[in-house]
Amino acid sequence: MTEKEISVYIHIPYCPAKCLYCDFLSFPLCSAPAVPAAYIKALTREIFLWGRKLESLDIRVSTLYIGGGTPTALSASELSEVLAACRRYLPLAEPEWTVEVNPGTLTPEKIEEMVKAGVNRASIGVQDLNEERLVLLGRQHNPAQAEEAFLVCRDAFPAVSVDVMAALPGQEPADLQETLAAVCGWGARHISVYGLAVAEGTPLFKLVKEDRVALPDEEAQLEMFTLTREYLLPRNYEHYEIASYTKGQHCRHNLTYWKNLPYAGIGLGAHSYWQKMRLANTRQMEVYLQSLAEDRLPVAECHNVSRREEMEDTIILGLRLRDGVSLSDFAGRFKRDLREVFAAEIKRLLELQLLECRDGFLRLTDKGLPLANTVFAEFISC
Ligand code: SF4
Repeated sequence: MTEKEISVYIHIPYCPAKCLYCDFLSFPLCSAPAVPAAYIKALTREIFLWGRKLESLDIRVSTLYIGGGTPTALSASELSEVLAACRRYLPLAEPEWTVEVNPGTLTPEKIEEMVKAGVNRASIGVQDLNEERLVLLGRQHNPAQAEEAFLVCRDAFPAVSVDVMAALPGQEPADLQETLAAVCGWGARHISVYGLAVAEGTPLFKLVKEDRVALPDEEAQLEMFTLTREYLLPRNYEHYEIASYTKGQHCRHNLTYWKNLPYAGIGLGAHSYWQKMRLANTRQMEVYLQSLAEDRLPVAECHNVSRREEMEDTIILGLRLRDGVSLSDFAGRFKRDLREVFAAEIKRLLELQLLECRDGFLRLTDKGLPLANTVFAEFISC
């Protein structure tokens, strides 16, 4: 990515219903604070404002990601409006263009709209292929719909990614392996495996607290992490980021985040990293609609990123990649050697064999991989 390129994320805060573990900013369609038509009107305005700003600076959009929520929870015509606004107002440079898709929400019309607009990647929330667990999690699809969604997307788009969840209630390592075997069997060329994080305030948090639902213990979680690698690596998937595996379909959009490069977040609660600032849009629907009705960007928080923070972010995000952080890229960006900037931290982590420095990269070792959060914490200054 050059200085004249940016990634854009667009947030669609609607879902057919709320999953029990979800703490994302999304509303069930039946009880959302604004109907999609009102939201899309404001969103289109925000897309326009960002597009004008990017064009004035001669910056092109190299990756575009429409996520949520569930973008495909919108009707075909609503989805088409969002896609059309992107095409009309954003300076697109033949971007990698992803839309998040949830099984059970796809129709031939929606697929057609996406293909017509230029969407070239689908990211499908499969999560699990055990029917009972899907119900327990409050997911709105069954295993057959997940497979069907994959097959339809595989025929429609050049790239398809599948999200799978680990450390789910009642899930054994063998269950996870079954899910992985199935999605490999479908021919998935990009698989992300995320461990469930039970966020406070969610219905699942309450169930776990009341001992009505049990989660796998730490040992089983570690076993699932190891099993994922041991299952996918011999099947020719490259483990290129802590949670991501691929056969030649690296997600360029996510690489922007992991390389700590600029992105614009458009939509309710969306975050941007732009001109050395971290910006957060309002999470209040009414404020969002009102700001855009007055032609103002709905930014609620703005934080100037210091040079030190930028260096910390660059190393923490970069260590998520299996390649790690390039010493020469870091030196080019900051005119400093990262081994000097973080000398004490790196020395400690090298001694613990959680990091290694080889071939011009600083990276997590196999031992450090499952302990990544502990490693990252070392680089955050108080
Ligand atoms: S589909 Fe995703 S965003 Fe929607 S409720 Fe479920 S977890 Fe949340």
